[in-house]
Amino acid sequence: MNRIIAFGVIGHPIEHSLSPVMHNSVFKHLGLGYEYLKFDVHPKDLGKFIENCKENNFIGLNVTIPHKISVIRFLDKISEEARLINAVNTIKFEDKTAIGFNTDGLGCVRALLEWIEGIKGKRILVLGAGGASRAISFQLAIEGADLLISNRTYDRALTLGNEIREKVGKRVEIVKFSHDEMKNFINDIDVLINATSVGMFPKVDEIPIPEDLLKFLNEDVVVMDIVYNPIETKLLREAKALGFKTVDGVGMLVYQGAESLRIWLDIEAPIDLMRRVVVRELGG
Ligand code: NAP
Repeated sequence: MNRIIAFGVIGHPIEHSLSPVMHNSVFKHLGLGYEYLKFDVHPKDLGKFIENCKENNFIGLNVTIPHKISVIRFLDKISEEARLINAVNTIKFEDKTAIGFNTDGLGCVRALLEWIEGIKGKRILVLGAGGASRAISFQLAIEGADLLISNRTYDRALTLGNEIREKVGKRVEIVKFSHDEMKNFINDIDVLINATSVGMFPKVDEIPIPEDLLKFLNEDVVVMDIVYNPIETKLLREAKALGFKTVDGVGMLVYQGAESLRIWLDIEAPIDLMRRVVVRELGG
């Protein structure tokens, strides 16, 4: 059977993306005749690529580095979340128009909700203030978390905190990325999320917070790492050894993909299958 090429992911480079294998497994499982490809799109070709998708009846794209912000100017509309975060990771094509969404924050929250009951009022410390942290922090603030952000470059955390306060109307505490400062905050948080790239392959022996601070976390804390390569980062290994609940980055990856599928096709994605496929690809 000839499959209809109507989906894909764009980035530059793009060869390591796990999205094609994840989405193609869903299409196959559900008997949908679609194919999802990866496209290496140079920044100078981005506008033309989006125009071509519109003309050729594409249904959906995922967007990754370095296009998440720059693609916005080529779209006809963007969702409220994408506007707040100022980044798009999902595009839906409809009647020759392109609409941008951001499912990263929701993906993280849905993965977290497998482990905690509700976000509202939870005291959550997010490490990092890069692209992924922006999506996650905005979503957590929208859902009413009591949010703290800490980042190596302090000013970047400050800017993100100010933006969230202005756009969402939620106050965010900014914690210095230092041993002494973190020690003052870490004992009363409900969730710790690593949204930095620390611990990612090949620097798998790195950990985003000093190890000796982990023992100050309260016993019911949930430790989440959005890094998914390796699946079990050093942070998660150490947290698990101390008896804490841990959530790996595959959950966020799968749920952000599931949200994209909901936007494109209005389907409930088979989460367990997607997770199995991603874990297998990562050699887990
Ligand atoms: P990014 O925009 O480049 O941001 C990187 C963040 O990491 C910044 O906050 C940066 O701090 C911090 N950082 C980098 N090296 C550091 C170090 N040595 N010590 C302390 N902080 C350091 O990247 P991103 O797009 O946000 O992605 C971050 C990670 O999330 C990546 O590993 C990515 O693979 C993962 N991710 C996972 C998912 C998922 O679905 N699971 C989705 C998106 C991203 P400065 O501001 O000081 O530079």
